[in-house]
Amino acid sequence: MNPLNGFEHLFNIFMPAGCPICGRSTPVPGICSDCKRNIIYIEPPYCSICGKPFVSGKGISHICIDCIKGKSRFVKSRAVFEYNGLIAELIQRFKFNDKVNLSSLFVNELLNLYKADFFDEGINAIIPVPLSDKRLKQRSYNQARLLAKGLSRELSIPCYTDVIKKVKEIPPQSTLKADARYNNVKHAYTVSGGDLLKAHKVLLVDDVITTGATVNACIAALHRAGIKQVYTMAIAMRV
Ligand SMILES: [Zn+2]
Ligand SMILES: [Zn+2]
Repeated sequence: MNPLNGFEHLFNIFMPAGCPICGRSTPVPGICSDCKRNIIYIEPPYCSICGKPFVSGKGISHICIDCIKGKSRFVKSRAVFEYNGLIAELIQRFKFNDKVNLSSLFVNELLNLYKADFFDEGINAIIPVPLSDKRLKQRSYNQARLLAKGLSRELSIPCYTDVIKKVKEIPPQSTLKADARYNNVKHAYTVSGGDLLKAHKVLLVDDVITTGATVNACIAALHRAGIKQVYTMAIAMRV
């Protein structure tokens, strides 16, 4: 037997072939060209702080009006995809069951984004947006934690998974309007320091940024703990 066949067999066991969305086989691992047509990568021009694309789709990146008004607490925020039908469906799958296939795909996409937009920032800690203990029990894993740990492994930057805690049980954000979301999560998180407090620049990782209320509440908690420079990254952003 050709030893390579054995290797290939092993490789196929651990790295299931095929597009993670439709399952069709692909020449290289990742999303197939048909599915790629139905997802939107966020590309410039976008706000150089919050990463939201500009409607016109023309011109160069600059700072949006919300960020000029000081509404964003992060230094910089970016997401890989616009949050729409197909990506929304994938993220639901990622949250509730298909963690193995999708986490390697998503970590890879985040890694590309990190290399393009964060590499020179000098980030020295990575933190996932936490779930409450109750939610964690229901789901058995925290999808943001899988992403943060994957990025940490690839970048050799330490990941702190238990320092930021969701302390207040709150109604799911998806049931609330934008304004109510901010009040809903305002004091929902606390930070218990440890080595994290030595970090100067922290990257907060989540799966989806919708209104930004959740990441802003986490950032407020990090600020209260003395960590002033927080960056955020997500798979998708509602634009
Ligand atoms: Zn596909
Ligand atoms: Zn902005």
